[in-house]
Amino acid sequence: MASDPRDQAVRAAVEHALLSDSEPVVALLDIAGVRASAAALRAAFAAVTDAPVLHAFAVKASPLVPVLRLLYEEGLGAEVASPGELALARAAGVPPDRTVLDSPAKTPAELREAVALGIAVNADNPQELARLDALLTGTATPPPVGLRVNAQVGGGTIEALSTATDTSKFGVALRDEGAREWIVRAFRDRPWLTRLHTHSGSQGVPLPLMAAGVRAVYELAEEINRAAGRHQVDTVDIGGGLPVNFASDDETPTYAEYARLLAAEVPGLFDGRYGLVTEFGRSLLARHGTVLARVEYTKTSGARPIAVTHAGVQVATRTVYDPASWPLRIAAYDAEGLPKTGPAVDQDVAGPACFAGDLLAVARPLPPLAPGDVVAALDTGAYYFAHHYAYNSLPRPGVYGYAVRPDGTVRFATVRGPQSAAEIVAESGGDRRDALVRE
Ligand SMILES: *Cc1c(COP(=O)(O)O)cnc(C)c1O
Repeated sequence: MASDPRDQAVRAAVEHALLSDSEPVVALLDIAGVRASAAALRAAFAAVTDAPVLHAFAVKASPLVPVLRLLYEEGLGAEVASPGELALARAAGVPPDRTVLDSPAKTPAELREAVALGIAVNADNPQELARLDALLTGTATPPPVGLRVNAQVGGGTIEALSTATDTSKFGVALRDEGAREWIVRAFRDRPWLTRLHTHSGSQGVPLPLMAAGVRAVYELAEEINRAAGRHQVDTVDIGGGLPVNFASDDETPTYAEYARLLAAEVPGLFDGRYGLVTEFGRSLLARHGTVLARVEYTKTSGARPIAVTHAGVQVATRTVYDPASWPLRIAAYDAEGLPKTGPAVDQDVAGPACFAGDLLAVARPLPPLAPGDVVAALDTGAYYFAHHYAYNSLPRPGVYGYAVRPDGTVRFATVRGPQSAAEIVAESGGDRRDALVRE
C-alpha cells in the first residue's frame, strides 16, 4: 500500500471508479492539507504579533463554496473581488465582518451592497472614493474603508502577475508626482477612511520585494496619522501573493519565513498599534489539489511519443497558454492507480481540446504511458480546475475532497459535481433555439 496521501487518494479514486468513461477527468483536494496550510498561516502571524489579524482567503484562487466553508472553519475570512465572489462567500456563511471587498471595477450597485452589508471595502482610485463620499454621507455606521496603494516597488518574473510595477493597473500609484500629498489630504478630508491596502506580490515575486511594498505602505500610514494628529489609519491590509514552489514537494517559502521577514523589515507594523488583514490565495490551496485524467490513446508523431489524455486547456489554462511561466509536475499511474515505474521516456502529455498547443507537458520524461493509465497534474488546487475554460464545450470536472483515515482507507466528499451535457446545452442558449432565426 502506498504511504503518500496523494498516492493513496489516486489509488482510491481508481478503486471507487471516480474516473470513468463518463468522467475521464476529475479533481481531488486534500482536506487535511488545506487545514494544515490555514493553521500554518495563522500560527506564522500569531508568532510575530499580538495584533488582531484577519486572514481573508482570496476567493479568486478557489471559488468553491465548500472550500470557503472549510477555510472559515479554520479561522479564515474571505477576500472578494466581484459580485459573484461575494455571493460565494455569503453562501459559505462567511459573515460580513470577516469579508473584504477589493474589486478593481466596483459598480455603484456593488458599493451600495457592501456598505449595506457592512463589508470592509478597499477603494481602488480617486473616482471610487468620490462615489463612497456620496454613499457614506449620513451613514451612521460606515463599514471599514481603505485605500489601495501601489507601492511601485517593481515586478517579479511573471509580468501578468506583477501588481507593483510603475504602471500596474491597481490602486493609487504612490510614487507618481503629487500622489503622496493627495493621499494624505484624502484621509484628512475623510474621517471614515481608516485603512490602507496593498498587494505587491504574486507568483514570481521575491519575498524581499513584497516586504518592501508592505514597508512603503506602513510608512505612508505613519505619515497620514502624523498629519491627522490621531491614529486614523488603524488597519493595514498587506494582500496575499506568497509564491508557491511548483517544482518539487518542498514547501518554500513558508508563511513563517514571510511573517518573520515582515516583522524584521517593518517592526512598527507588528507592535500592536495596527490591525492586520492578509489575502493569501494560491499558497493556501495550490499544493493540495490534483487533476487526474485517464490516458485515452497513445501514439507517436515525428518519433515523439504522445499520450492523449482528458486534462488540457479546460483545467490548466495558464499552463497550456504560457507553459514557460506555469510548468506543472506530472505523475504517472497505471490503470489500477498505482505509481508507474520503469525507465523514463520523453513524452508529450496532451489534452482533449482541438488545437495543437493543448499540451500539459512537452517532452516530459515519464514511464511509458499506455491507454487506461492515469496522469496526475500536481499542485493544481488554485487557479486550475476551479478556473474552468469552456473550450470545445468540455465539461467542468467534478471536484472531490479526500481524507485518508488512519487505517489507510480514503473517504471522498463531493465539492462540485461534474457538469452534464444537459447543463452545457442549458448554459449555451439551449432554451432559445430559434432566437436568431425568428428575426
Ligand atoms: C489575487 C489577489 C490576491 C491573492 O493572490 P495570491 O497570489 O493567490 O495569494 C490577494 N489580494 C488581491 C487584491 C488579489 O488581487
